[in-house]
Order: sequence, then C-alpha cells, then structure tokens
Amino acid sequence: MARKRYRFWRCGNGHILGMIQWNGRMVPQLVLYRQAVDHGADVPEEVDVLGPLMGRMPVRCDVCDDVRLWDISEAALVALAEYSGFKVEVQS
Ligand SMILES: [Zn+2]
Repeated sequence: MARKRYRFWRCGNGHILGMIQWNGRMVPQLVLYRQAVDHGADVPEEVDVLGPLMGRMPVRCDVCDDVRLWDISEAALVALAEYSGFKVEVQS
C-alpha cells in the first residue's frame, strides 16, 4: 500500500502556499492553495486548491507578495533525504 506523506509549503515569511504530497514512488506534487493562508490569522476550514502542480513554476504569496520557485528536483531531494532519516540543507 502506498504511504502518503505531506507537509506544508510556505513562502519566505511563513504563509502557507500549499501542501507537498508524495506518492508511493516518492514523486512530489505541490497542491497549491488558491489563496495563501496566514497561519497566525484565521485559518479557513475549507481551502480552495488549484490542484497538483508538477515541474517548475514560480508561485506568488498573495499575503506578502513573496515569490517562491516550486522546483520538483529540489523537493524530491529533500523528500528522499527526510525519508531516509537524514537532515539536508538545500543551498541555492
Ligand atoms: Zn507570504
């Protein structure tokens, strides 16, 4: 059975832009929220999602205008490292 893992994907200021999910073959998908969520403020019970995003794409936070680049190769690297129990810092 495929083991599902996920974690939040945040902008540089900590707003939640979406969720990263891995399928059983460790391929990361970004499930992008339609609007960024400020965790300190009201968290809506239902969040509109734009659906899974693959590949490479810049995503703008609509709370603070910070732009993060979703890059599947970086996410895959981090996922693999975490899955193996290592802690890795990705340098850009
Ligand atoms: Zn932000």
